Amino acid sequence: MAKTAIITGSSRGIGAAIALRLAKDGMNIAFNDLNMTMFENNDIVDKVKALGVEAEIFCADVSKFDQCEAMVKAVKERFGTIDVLVNNAGITRDGLMARMPEEQYDMVIAVNQKSVFNMTKFVGNVMMRQRSGRIINLASVAGLYGNPGQINYSASKAAIIGMTKTVAKELGARNVTCNAVAPGFIHTPMTDKLTEEQKAAMLAQIAMKRYGEPEEIAGVVSFLASDDASYVTGQVIEISGGISM
Ligand code: NAD
Repeated sequence: MAKTAIITGSSRGIGAAIALRLAKDGMNIAFNDLNMTMFENNDIVDKVKALGVEAEIFCADVSKFDQCEAMVKAVKERFGTIDVLVNNAGITRDGLMARMPEEQYDMVIAVNQKSVFNMTKFVGNVMMRQRSGRIINLASVAGLYGNPGQINYSASKAAIIGMTKTVAKELGARNVTCNAVAPGFIHTPMTDKLTEEQKAAMLAQIAMKRYGEPEEIAGVVSFLASDDASYVTGQVIEISGGISM
């Protein structure tokens, strides 16, 4: 039976690239994003279906506990199993700490960090019963090294690294692995909105002197979801073209 992967925030960017790659690996895809509008301007679901796997969209705001519980139940009913969870949904609301309003901090924590608790709790229960599963979290170099203007974002991504290790320890005995990838600067709608000055500053720090592409994140996620990674858990793989060594 084909495996099923649920990828949060998968209408575009890195999430869409991961969906396509895991579909190429033969998995059925449970897409998620905030609403159907997010899927209207692209053909990602059609591209996945063209590969011969099954795919369906499950709209939910992953920062909301109850919506995650309902979505996980619906995905389990539709596909029978949930073999891979990719906690990909994320936002930035950048600003210097001194000027950041409380709501701006709280919102990024809710979407980037609380969502990982919500989704992992409910999918983790399914995987524990199955005695198998792969959980892959999207952290960031901002969570490893910090980044000025991103106190909310870097806090959420550093937390994800701690959560990854905790989940690896809690679920390891049930043959459920949990790892994180920490991308550097990747070409997506999230980074398109940065100023030319910000982009140039990033580029200067990258050993490979180029930005990454979403497919370069998807390849590592594919490895972590594959049989080849059966004994890898609790790890953070940086995918940054060498931002820090
Ligand atoms: P993106 O903005 O292109 O895509 C993120 C997706 O998440 C969007 O489709 C958005 O609608 C969805 N989303 C946002 N809030 C949601 C919510 N509450 N519920 C459900 N879906 C929601 O961003 P991206 O660049 O593809 O980033 C994907 C992940 O990779 C994020 O976690 C991001 O923090 C991380 N990341 C990106 C970069 C980069 O350079 N692009 C670097 C490091 C980490």
